[in-house]
Amino acid sequence: MKDKISIVGAGLVGSLIAVILKQKGFDVQVFEKRKDPRKSKIPEGRSINLALSHRGIRPLTLAGVYDSIEPYLIPMKGRMMHSEDGELTYQPYGKDGQFINSVSRAQLNQLLIENAEKAGVEVLFDHKCDDVDFENNTITFQNGDVIKSDLIIGTDGAFSAIRKKLQVTDRFNFSQHYIEHGYKELCIEPKNNIFRLEPNYLHIWPRGNFMLIALPNNDKTFTCTLFFPFEGSPSFAELKTKDQVHSFFDTYFKDAADLIPDLTDQFFTNPTSSLVTTKCEPWYRGRSILLGDAAHAIVPFYGQGMNSGFEDVRLFVELAEEMNWKWDEILPKYSSIRKKDADAISELALYNFLEMRDHVGDPHFLRRKKLEGKIQSNYPKEWIPLYSMVTFSDIPYSEALRLGKIQKKVMDEFLERDVEEINFEEVIARFNTLKQVD
Ligand SMILES: Cc1cc2nc3c(=O)[nH]c(=O)nc-3n(C[C@H](O)[C@H](O)[C@H](O)COP(=O)(O)OP(=O)(O)OC[C@H]3O[C@@H](n4cnc5c(N)ncnc54)[C@H](O)[C@@H]3O)c2cc1C
Repeated sequence: MKDKISIVGAGLVGSLIAVILKQKGFDVQVFEKRKDPRKSKIPEGRSINLALSHRGIRPLTLAGVYDSIEPYLIPMKGRMMHSEDGELTYQPYGKDGQFINSVSRAQLNQLLIENAEKAGVEVLFDHKCDDVDFENNTITFQNGDVIKSDLIIGTDGAFSAIRKKLQVTDRFNFSQHYIEHGYKELCIEPKNNIFRLEPNYLHIWPRGNFMLIALPNNDKTFTCTLFFPFEGSPSFAELKTKDQVHSFFDTYFKDAADLIPDLTDQFFTNPTSSLVTTKCEPWYRGRSILLGDAAHAIVPFYGQGMNSGFEDVRLFVELAEEMNWKWDEILPKYSSIRKKDADAISELALYNFLEMRDHVGDPHFLRRKKLEGKIQSNYPKEWIPLYSMVTFSDIPYSEALRLGKIQKKVMDEFLERDVEEINFEEVIARFNTLKQVD
């Protein structure tokens, strides 16, 4: 347990695993390229808030840090859909009492860094990793420092420097894919210190090929995110003038636009960012391993990027403990077990974009949802909806994806009948049969 562990990246995943490995008795140092975020301001237009759910909460609880985070969470019990004429429709995320939580990424990161330092971890800011020697387990930093460790953990995000070094090693596979949409954040300020929208929902304005969402913050603002194509019609490329922005928002998001008096200032000041999926394999070399976005960056539409990264932490540590901390055996085993789940959530995240922006208003989709609600209330143990498997359970993502595809197939078969005539026993029997064979 005297092993020296170096973690590169004090983001969400790096700070959390630092806390846990320190608690297990290791000598842990974290190296972060940025300045201490507790001492610097959040850059303009970067107020990302995230949906934290079960897979993320469980490791936070195991690390004993969840109590310090809970006060900053805002529960969101379902989707609140806004139609073009401002009509609202509510879809709960799960059963009564199930919800996801809005949390500021910056605030959560600061709390995790604080918890890491409290646990005795040394966090070194202004330490940008420049190079890794996988043979000798050394990291070279931009400032010239060279650190040798027993284990190197790369939690340096979607554009990981450690992964870039892996890319020039033999038989390392890597792919990245940018979707055609980018995103821009906009802020809805409170009025008289009161939220301008109902706070306990994730608000969505689904508009076919694009959408706007809004998540609540503790200061009673909402962070809205417009997911929108870079090119084409309509697209970011088309919105060049204040009039064009006003006219676009008045057409598609009138009720939201009315709550943002400085809409065009925000629109032209805040950055437009891109969305990437990365995949790579193997995640390790020698005594170095990638976790979180460094290993598998996904698009944000299932709200699982951070949650899956936190789940990486739990699964990695549980396996390491079970294998008595023998790193040379743990790294390949962990990677081989976890890779298929990272690929599955990557696929699910892309699929959920279609569901959020397009299908939520589609009559066939709504019929399927209605049918699913009935199946679930008749057979709550046998039938767990895909969203619930992903968001409120520990079922491996790959199994959730497999079961979800079977559920869709079963529902599409039965939807050919009148919902009132459907025999739910027959539905479950069909599901169970396909589960065995598919
Ligand atoms: C718009 C948007 C919405 C999202 N919504 C959700 C959501 O609702 N739910 C959810 O679960 N996830 C969401 N995500 C995804 C989530 O933000 C990421 O999955 C999560 O931040 C990954 O954590 P990480 O620690 O792996 O990487 P990061 O949070 O990116 O942290 C990486 C850290 O490494 C540091 N670093 C980078 N390079 C170096 C280097 N060379 N040397 C040293 N340090 C370095 C960085 O400065 C950073 O601190 C969203 C993402 C986006 C973009």
